[in-house]
Amino acid sequence: MPLDRVGAGRPHTDPEFGVQRDEDSMPQEPARERAQEPAAPRVTDHGGGVHSIEVPIPDNPLGHTLVHLVDTDRGPVLVDTGWDDPDSWDTLAAGLRALGTDVSAVHGVVITHHHPDHHGLSGQVREASGAWIAMHAADAAVVRRTREARPGVWLDYLCAKLAAVGAPEEHLAPLREARTSGRMRTLPGLRAALPDREIVPGDLLPLAGRRLRAIWTPGHTPGHVCLHLEEEHPSGLPGNGRLFSGDHLLPGITPHIGLYEDPDDAVETDPLGDYLDSLERVGRLSVAEVLPAHQHAFTTAGARVRELLSHHEDRLTGLLSLLAVPLTPWELAERMEWNRPWAQIPYGSRTIAVSEAEAHVRRLEKLGKVERVPGGGVVRFRSV
Ligand SMILES: [Zn+2]
Ligand SMILES: [Zn+2]
Repeated sequence: MPLDRVGAGRPHTDPEFGVQRDEDSMPQEPARERAQEPAAPRVTDHGGGVHSIEVPIPDNPLGHTLVHLVDTDRGPVLVDTGWDDPDSWDTLAAGLRALGTDVSAVHGVVITHHHPDHHGLSGQVREASGAWIAMHAADAAVVRRTREARPGVWLDYLCAKLAAVGAPEEHLAPLREARTSGRMRTLPGLRAALPDREIVPGDLLPLAGRRLRAIWTPGHTPGHVCLHLEEEHPSGLPGNGRLFSGDHLLPGITPHIGLYEDPDDAVETDPLGDYLDSLERVGRLSVAEVLPAHQHAFTTAGARVRELLSHHEDRLTGLLSLLAVPLTPWELAERMEWNRPWAQIPYGSRTIAVSEAEAHVRRLEKLGKVERVPGGGVVRFRSV
């Protein structure tokens, strides 16, 4: 996966469908053997009726998703559910039992964003408990589209998109091969559950006895939300309550910001611009503690927001000087700083890297700092 070198930590490469994983567009691997005995669940008491369960993400360096459980007068409500895998399910269920409840008792599921390490088990939780599932409309639209997507159409879209940004033939060939052979893996989002309820930005969620407000934080996905628990910190830490931050704000990882993938959408979105605005919005909350969906809880929200803002500012400045000569997004990605030389970046991570480069170029274009160079079939940009 593409990693940064400028102190903001590892970019978070979610195992999202399509551009995010090598395997998704590749011939299917044999099924993984299921572990005999799942390890004892790791749960944390965050105080004030909030717990977290480490739900493993199989074969992923990220390790686990922190599924948060919020006690309400109507039963436990989960913030995210974890990856759709039997071991992950067993760990979630065992974690709930360790906390003195049961998956059948879950009252509702609040989803920060549609990625499968967050929303993967939601359908199974709903089946076992009758819980409702709530999600922002923009991510619900992605779920709906993914469920209806035919892999062939998706691969054609991906190939055309990569060719347009200057991907070389050796990068496109495996995708074409998967397309013509028909041996493509089932996209993981295909079984994702459609939500029952919409998370409306700015609204309090209807949780009996709790004050949990939805903060729309697009960028990592178009419908990403953070959930602000507007209650005094249980240990009396100064600040305004706590924030379930999903992937938006993580202590040591920079979330992946690429272009929103939508084969049908002609609108030129600006995900990095969205992300930077969302960071500032979250910074203004001045929360006492952040409960993110990966890694660990932390109390330095303001400093972390500033760190990420300046990280992207530096990155944009660096890109601008690279674009003194016209470059395709692919050529730009090759020249950008990653945690290792481009030649050592694996196949699927290159796709992610180029999408990251595109998101930065799109931001610079919106700011009027770069322009498209006319001519040729492939798009090139240069600074103005
Ligand atoms: Zn994510
Ligand atoms: Zn994630």
